[in-house]
Amino acid sequence: MSLANKYRPDTFDKIIWQDHITHILKAQMKNEQKNNHNYLLFGPRGTGKTTAARILSKAINCLDLQDGNPCNQCANCNIINKWQTFDYIEIDAASYTWVDNIREEILDKVPYPPTQLKKKIYIVDEVHMLSKSAFNALLKTIEEPNNAVWFIFATTEIHKVPETIVSRCQVFNFKKVLKETMAPHLQNICNLEWLSFEDEALNLISDISEWCVRDAIKYIDQISVFGSISMENVSNFLGIAGESMVKDFLALIKAKDRESVFKKIDEIHDQWIDLLQFAKQNIMYIDKSLMSDIDFFISVSEVFSEIIATAKYYPYPTMIYKIAINKFLWQNKQTTKHQETITQEDKTKEDLVVKSSDWIEKNQNELENPISKEKQILNQIIEKVESKTLKDSLRDHTFIKNISNWKAHFIVINKIAEIALNRDDTKNNLENIISEIVWENIKIDIQFQSKEEYLSNIL
Ligand SMILES: [Zn+2]
Repeated sequence: MSLANKYRPDTFDKIIWQDHITHILKAQMKNEQKNNHNYLLFGPRGTGKTTAARILSKAINCLDLQDGNPCNQCANCNIINKWQTFDYIEIDAASYTWVDNIREEILDKVPYPPTQLKKKIYIVDEVHMLSKSAFNALLKTIEEPNNAVWFIFATTEIHKVPETIVSRCQVFNFKKVLKETMAPHLQNICNLEWLSFEDEALNLISDISEWCVRDAIKYIDQISVFGSISMENVSNFLGIAGESMVKDFLALIKAKDRESVFKKIDEIHDQWIDLLQFAKQNIMYIDKSLMSDIDFFISVSEVFSEIIATAKYYPYPTMIYKIAINKFLWQNKQTTKHQETITQEDKTKEDLVVKSSDWIEKNQNELENPISKEKQILNQIIEKVESKTLKDSLRDHTFIKNISNWKAHFIVINKIAEIALNRDDTKNNLENIISEIVWENIKIDIQFQSKEEYLSNIL
């Protein structure tokens, strides 16, 4: 079992950092105050909404409540845990098939009472994705009092849920998990798993998972293959730099030492660190340390915003860094060394940048015109995969060349991404997703190409 599943909370008491919600829910379950039986759980991704919805479903049906928590032992808890009942239905509204099917999937079946459980439960995840007509149909259902059917909605974007729906639900706001809460939680899991760890590495994992507990645990699971959760393993596996590297890098820019900055960029790149992620890390660090050097940090933050914006269109990040930083140093004058620090290799890359402007234009055209079938499929895959790292790898480093003869040919332009995609479970997962999208059994063929190679092929 994966660590993320192993440590997924199965009672209200195990959910960290949402006590303001779990206290109320437990009290309701104990007192059987079950008048308003529609819930709307909202908050950022990874804060435990779906987990809470599942626990709530069990608590509503549990035959042996433990202080408001589901027992996870009784017949009802068991069939929900094992998905062995039609009385408990989870719907992901973000998955396109549901948007149109909601009428038949929910509304036609709602009138029938539960056959096994006490209450029939519908969990609708990402409910804001439903179409207007689906919402209208849904509204009709929840307006009619039917005590045997309960809806639990979850969303990251409550402002997109019609007021008519919101007003008929008990609304709970899930808070982002703070780093101070996350760190001890991750430490605890490492201890239980007999994994040695470095505090800095766990902090980095918290940052990179943007305080999504589930993602953080997944990273720990993946990195544990290498032995310990050390800074070195974390940066190797995730292609991310430690905070000290970010600090040193900013110090070099501040010192206006262009030669050293350029060398450092190549060095970071050679260590397989994802430079787009590195730009984001710089911004996070600047945000955190802003007051310590406000003028410099504010002006240099624009450099990283520019890098992030450009990197989407141009797959050669070291040059993007050099151009953006060069411009910044030029605007801030008095760099010490000039032209002689640009090597022949850099000149060649600069040529590539000029050529690539055509490519960028082409890509932007593509955004305005209908995008290719392959790109559309890739976008659908990105929507459907759960892991954030995998999403990033697909979005930033992967292209589908073509799909023919039941084979999808993927081109990956980043070594780490290639390794990640080639993992058996990841590949299987992707094959399942893509087969579902195109309604055919598809195998995936992954081919690595360097960014230069890729670029020169398409230019
Ligand atoms: Zn139970």
